[in-house]
This record gives sequence, C-alpha cells and structure tokens, in this order.
Amino acid sequence: MRYIDKDFDQDIVRGTDLLLSKAKSYNSDQQVRDNLRIIYSGCCAYCESSFEEGAYFQIDHFYPKSIKKYRRYAKDIRNLHYSCQRCNNIKGAKCHKVLSPNWYLNGTQWELTRKEKINNEIYYVGHLLYSRNSSEDSLNRGENTISVFNLNNTNAAIRSNRSYLVESRLKVCNNVHLLLKSITDLLINYNKSSNSVIDILLSQVMSAMHPNSCYSTMVIQNYGDMLMKLLKTYIKLRTPSV
Ligand SMILES: [Zn+2]
Repeated sequence: MRYIDKDFDQDIVRGTDLLLSKAKSYNSDQQVRDNLRIIYSGCCAYCESSFEEGAYFQIDHFYPKSIKKYRRYAKDIRNLHYSCQRCNNIKGAKCHKVLSPNWYLNGTQWELTRKEKINNEIYYVGHLLYSRNSSEDSLNRGENTISVFNLNNTNAAIRSNRSYLVESRLKVCNNVHLLLKSITDLLINYNKSSNSVIDILLSQVMSAMHPNSCYSTMVIQNYGDMLMKLLKTYIKLRTPSV
C-alpha cells in the first residue's frame, strides 16, 4: 500500500476537503475524483498499478461506509483512497488492520501516522513481491497485504487472478535490477569518463522510486538499500582524495 501524504497544508487536499463538504455524496463531484487521481499520481493505493484491471478506478473507503459507525467518514478525504476496481472489490467491506493508511482512526479521532512510523510502514507494506526481511512483523504485514489483495495470484482459473499485475511488477523489478547491475559493473572498473553514464543510470533508478511511478513502494523496498550502497561508493570514487 502506498503512503500518500494527505497534508492539509496542500491546496489540493484542502480544496478537495472543501468540495467534499459541499458535495451530496463522496461520489457526486467529478472534481473530487480528478483531485484524488492527482493526489495518488494515478496509481491504485493498494496494488500501485496505473492500469485498469477492471472497468475503472473507484474511490475506496478504508473504513467501510457500509459499517454504521464509519458512515460519518463517507465524505472524509482522510478515509478515501484512489483504488482500481479490482482492489476495491477484493477489499470489500473489510477494514484490514494489516494495511496502513497515513490517517487512521483512534476511536473516533483521526490521527496521522507518526513520521518515524511512516518509514516502517512503507518498509513493511513494500513486501509485495519479495520478502528479504525475516522479522515476524514485516513478514506478517507483507504476507497479509499480498493475501488480502491476491497480489501474487496467477491462477487463471479464479476470478481474482492477477497475472497481469504480477507480470507488470516483475518487469519493473527486472529493469531496476539490470540498471543497478550496470552501475555496479561500472563502479567495479571505475573510470571518471563513465560518470555521465552512471548519472543517467542512477537517475533512471531514482525515477522508478519516485512516487509518481507505478510500484515505487515495491521498488524502494526491494532496491532502496542497494541504491544507497552504490551511491556511497560512487560519491567516494568521484571525490578526489586529499
Ligand atoms: Zn489496485
């Protein structure tokens, strides 16, 4: 699941909140839908894809509006998530504790996930394809996220088959993996004439980790550490020794 910064200092978040307060329903204002698409960079909050497996993108209520006590949050921007139809249908009227929106309810009070916790959450929920961390908590969260949304299910016989989603994510992973391998090779036989090539390759990796890119949470989780290691080596090699 993506961490989306719905900071009320941002014009678009404040504006959407105002539109929602005037709208008849959460669904009735096209501008609200357009704004949510922008806030989520056109990617599903849950599977991180921008393609539409189902017919269209929907607005998911993290705290389901079908449950009486959550009905009051049906038009609350903190509770609305841009979601592909497939993920929204799979999640249904459940409120999975394994997922981590940035705003969460503590009783009837909205609370913002604390900054230090944000990194952990991103780290945990990034276990979408692979799991490198063996800590129990992260494995549980990762596995639950995969299982709730059938993210790795490629069984063509079942309705929630997600072959296309798995293929898309693998494609992105393979690409980033190749980029990092090329950078590693260039650093092993470092020559300052390779700087411009290394810079281009690094910018391509960073672009895959940018929130505007599909699956960026997954890419950060899988390759963030490796990128940091290569960056450190590169900076060291580039800096002339005194
Ligand atoms: Zn989705």
